[in-house]
Amino acid sequence: MEHHHSLTLAEIGAELIRKPIKHLHLYVYPPDGRVRISAPLRMPLHIIHTFALSKLNWIRERQRRMQEQARETRRESLEHESHDVWGKRLLLSIIETRSAPSVAVTPSALELRLRPGSSAEKRAQILKAWMQEQVRMALPALLSKWEPVIGVQVKRIAVRRMKTRWGSCSPSAGRICLNSDLAHKPPICLEYVLVHELAHFLEPSHNARFQNLMDRFLPNWRQIRHDLNRLPPQSTANSVRETPQIG
Ligand SMILES: [Zn+2]
Repeated sequence: MEHHHSLTLAEIGAELIRKPIKHLHLYVYPPDGRVRISAPLRMPLHIIHTFALSKLNWIRERQRRMQEQARETRRESLEHESHDVWGKRLLLSIIETRSAPSVAVTPSALELRLRPGSSAEKRAQILKAWMQEQVRMALPALLSKWEPVIGVQVKRIAVRRMKTRWGSCSPSAGRICLNSDLAHKPPICLEYVLVHELAHFLEPSHNARFQNLMDRFLPNWRQIRHDLNRLPPQSTANSVRETPQIG
């Protein structure tokens, strides 16, 4: 049997339900942030009240987020625009929001949150910065894996969009530059380009020695190179672009 009451917590109305349970439970329901507390049948009201008040900030934060989501307008891209992220095709979903622009990956979509009325340029700019960030975030783990194997150390590594190269390096300066479009490709492609550039620290040219090194480090590098060069860097690009090469 359940008994329903109402409770007021610092201007927040809550529904109190008495049930044969052992512990207090507090819920905030979407879409409007309705609050419900389930309490054991004989628990004194002041204990329930104190508990609920201790959760007030949490309740308000949940309610605030729900209100923010309610204001968001989801727009499936009319052209069914898709983007490849780490080799996986994701449908672009644009969500208009008043909060700061952000990008998120769900199992099937690339969600781009933007202020209403944002231009196509702004959208492209946010996505570009996000792709760049994806590559940057992947690098520390790859470097700590490969530097000891190859026996070299990178002094500076840059990630930027390049039209003609997947990667380039300056072995004498210990510098590497990687193409941010690598975030569109399967992760092994970034790894391959990085290993290629690191191998140049040992052998600057693409001679037999270099290829022997690559065979040792990444035995299937030829297959990865083939996959990498099969498609242009951006799957959604309508314009014809030269496929970048490995520097
Ligand atoms: Zn090279």
